[in-house]
Amino acid sequence: MKDRQIIIVGGGASGMMAAGRAAQCGADVLLLEKTPRLGNKLRLTGKGRCNVTNEAELSEFVAHFGETGRFLYSAFSRFFVQDLISFLNQRGVPTVLERGGRVFPVSDDARQVVAALQGYLKGNNVQIRGKSRVEHLLVEEGRICGVQVGGHTIRGASVIVATGGASYPRTGSSGDGYRLAAEVGHHIVPIRPALIPLVTKERWVCALKGLTLRNVQVTLLLNDQPIGQEFGEMLFTHFGVSGPVVLGLSRRAVDALAKGRVSLSVNLKQALTSEELDKRLQRELRNHGRRQLRNILAELLPHKMINVFVALLDIAADKLGHQITAAERKRMVALLRDLRMTVTGSRPISEAIVTAGGVDTSEVNPRTMESRVIKGLFFCGEVIDVDADTGGYNLQAAFSTGYLAGESAVRVVNDIALS
Ligand SMILES: Cc1cc2nc3c(=O)[nH]c(=O)nc-3n(C[C@H](O)[C@H](O)[C@H](O)COP(=O)(O)OP(=O)(O)OC[C@H]3O[C@@H](n4cnc5c(N)ncnc54)[C@H](O)[C@@H]3O)c2cc1C
Repeated sequence: MKDRQIIIVGGGASGMMAAGRAAQCGADVLLLEKTPRLGNKLRLTGKGRCNVTNEAELSEFVAHFGETGRFLYSAFSRFFVQDLISFLNQRGVPTVLERGGRVFPVSDDARQVVAALQGYLKGNNVQIRGKSRVEHLLVEEGRICGVQVGGHTIRGASVIVATGGASYPRTGSSGDGYRLAAEVGHHIVPIRPALIPLVTKERWVCALKGLTLRNVQVTLLLNDQPIGQEFGEMLFTHFGVSGPVVLGLSRRAVDALAKGRVSLSVNLKQALTSEELDKRLQRELRNHGRRQLRNILAELLPHKMINVFVALLDIAADKLGHQITAAERKRMVALLRDLRMTVTGSRPISEAIVTAGGVDTSEVNPRTMESRVIKGLFFCGEVIDVDADTGGYNLQAAFSTGYLAGESAVRVVNDIALS
């Protein structure tokens, strides 16, 4: 009988969903989790509030994943946003829609989502084994036949790898799945940090640490050519920059670093054209001709930026408004519209919100999540080469691929039983 069981490797968002769904479809399911507890990363999501999904319509939703988003169409057509919301609602987790289509539990408590999934496992008699790190996948004649844990073999007719990415390793997600998949012949797209703060070269950035800029337009440049743009909030830190706008550009920035010189250009006055900004400056300088430049700039910039700004302009901060030349004013316009920083790297992958790269999507059947390399082996969640922007997209992908992998694995096991 044990030979027919389905083994799930990893008790995170995707693994719990896969295990629950497989058991709900009638399978004998064993969930192996490396740490003592399920859903460690899930508990941290959305700063403990868990942004479970997003109400964007399908094509927009998929676009948030970039190039590999296409791979998810089948999983999303099987189990999508409203299915997930109903799933949670039916298990005592009412949800609420917030800005940008983001969906959260009304309780603002990620632990409720974990509890709902645990209830799903318990209600369907999933056998759970914590502190069980899968060391190897076992394959016989091109077909999965079990896993190795602590040197012992556990046999199974099907195995679902749901080991997550390589970020926040203390949650248990330390990249094991990439090695497990590679060992049995899968190609792994090189892993990189995504949704990650960026490190910059300029020393003045450190002087601004703690400062948040709102409503700024940030352009990502590769060898001075724009390759991405985001609008919103950014934050200066002791090492560089962070905040939603930077996280949104980070994957493209990390990839661009391998190709050339990467920089960020911040437009601090995005709502004004150059001409409008120049007129505004002329007015300020005329109206406050006897004020020092540093005081005039207080009308245009956050207080903390003023010293840095005048240093970059290379104009004395105590110069009076009426002494500013037309050429100096043009420099001010240029700097307000293009505050430039050189990107030298990113924070380490351990600090990333998600991992880019992973099991190559061309080697996984998108209709079932089954490996095209090894029969009876399935993948779901972040271990696959799919990652998205912030906004609830990554968790929905984990739940959708988990759901699909769970029910597909049951079909494979049933086929074996019949043959
Ligand atoms: C701080 C933070 C906040 C986030 N917030 C959000 C958010 O609000 N919304 C959103 O959509 N996404 C968010 N994400 C991303 C999201 O959490 C992940 O994309 C999602 O958890 C991936 O699910 P998963 O099941 O693939 O992997 P995980 O949830 O990482 O689970 C993998 C599990 O596998 C186990 N495991 C690993 N190796 C083995 C092994 N060898 N044997 C047995 N078990 C193993 C691990 O211990 C872990 O429990 C956030 C991520 C972080 C780090």
